[in-house]
Amino acid sequence: MTIRQRLTLYYAALLTIIIIMFGTLTYVVMRWTMIGTIDSTLVETATLITNNSRLLPVPGFGAPSRMEIELAPLDLFRASGVYVQAWEIVDDKPIFKESSLNARGLGTNALDPTMLGHHESVFSHHTVNNVALRILTVPIIQSSSGRLVGNIQVATELETVNRASKQLLIVVLASCVFAIFGAMMLSMWFSHRALVPIEHITQAAASIAGTNDLNTRLRWKGPPDELGKLISVFNQMMGRIQHLFSVQQRFVADISHELRTPLTAIQGNIALMKRYGVDAASLDDVETECQRMTRLVNDLLMLARADYGGITISLTPIDLDSVVIECLTQAKILAKDRQLDIHLGHFQPVRIKGDYERLKQLVSNLLNNAIKFTPDGGEIIVTLGSNHEQAILTVKDTGIGIAKADIERIFDRFYQSEASRVHHTDNEGFGLGLSIAKWVVEAHHGTINVSSEPKHGSTFTVTIPLYRPQQDEEIPPHQRPTRTRIPALRKMLEGDDE
Ligand code: ADP
Repeated sequence: MTIRQRLTLYYAALLTIIIIMFGTLTYVVMRWTMIGTIDSTLVETATLITNNSRLLPVPGFGAPSRMEIELAPLDLFRASGVYVQAWEIVDDKPIFKESSLNARGLGTNALDPTMLGHHESVFSHHTVNNVALRILTVPIIQSSSGRLVGNIQVATELETVNRASKQLLIVVLASCVFAIFGAMMLSMWFSHRALVPIEHITQAAASIAGTNDLNTRLRWKGPPDELGKLISVFNQMMGRIQHLFSVQQRFVADISHELRTPLTAIQGNIALMKRYGVDAASLDDVETECQRMTRLVNDLLMLARADYGGITISLTPIDLDSVVIECLTQAKILAKDRQLDIHLGHFQPVRIKGDYERLKQLVSNLLNNAIKFTPDGGEIIVTLGSNHEQAILTVKDTGIGIAKADIERIFDRFYQSEASRVHHTDNEGFGLGLSIAKWVVEAHHGTINVSSEPKHGSTFTVTIPLYRPQQDEEIPPHQRPTRTRIPALRKMLEGDDE
């Protein structure tokens, strides 16, 4: 069953239930009201008659003495269309006493024989000579003894009420049928209207699937209701898919481009060696290019695995200062042939929860970039501190800086600014280092920012939440604070520069 059919069915069923309930209620209330009016006429008549009648003792022997009812003239008090009968109860047997003129035709037949002898006022229905009657039987009680002396029965025909009820029933049933039919038509129309935009979405999705046209967007002129929101989310999703698709295409193009250069170099060297025999320089070139490709593949593999969540990072308490010290020691070796002043600014031990190897990757990438993009004679300053919540690491250089337009893009994969390509023609980077750095920082719930001025230098700032030890927590021995190592490092950095 389609959604439209189901909606139609639900609407129609709901409306049918409501209409039937409403019809039944109208019928019942109308009938009650009409019978209520009749009942009050009957009560009024019976009250007038009993109030104006008297009980007289019949002289005789023995006790209790019989009482006779002296009735008020029945026709005087009866309302129009109301039949009245009076009955005496002698020895628990009803004896006909009198009736109003209009009830003479009944003779001594009671209006409702089953109710005679009742000690309380009671309403009943009875059919006499094929005429349906509403009857009120009221008792006549001797007040001194509480004995039932007689019954007055007042009745009226129910024909008018029955006829009116029947007509009302026909009207209610006819309008029910009509309303149910109308409700079905309306609900079909409404559900059709409500589902038209969904059909459009289906068609758009089908056309995208068929033609691979990611430019398709849906137009919505209606209000920003549920469907409006669905369409806006659909369009946003299409935008995102389109963006991801183009990123993917660019990514593949970039990888191909990056691989082409070393492959061409390797092919050239092999051709040379084939022609002139193996020589050490060509072999070195081939080795360098192979190493370059290996680095690229490793970086790509890591980012790809990070993307699909294939890398699990286990965060354990770590002294970030010891990571920085290790990376700085390596950086110093890397920059041994360069005229660079690498030194520490404010530097204090800070403990975070992190992954040692990944943090090393982060800090090395920042330091390597600083070394790479700072000309000889420049300065690189590393600081490490904290505020109440975060460890703060900065790597500041006085290098070529980054243009404003590039700042937003340097964390994108394969992005390398024009200035850095010019500065570094034999750049062995691929534009992946900062993407990896960003991923590492985010995996540590931290942030990475850069402030830079072209030709004056850049400052990369990393913040990572501080580690808050639980009470009585044991600190593993290899991660004890590195206070003693900081002065040694300062000395090493400064000593070498001299
Ligand atoms: P790579 O260094 O391999 O080119 P990265 O992702 O590490 O790739 O950096 C991307 C780009 O950001 C670099 O190519 C360079 O243009 C710019 N960049 C990064 N660090 C610095 C820096 N310290 N000074 C100037 N430019 C930088």
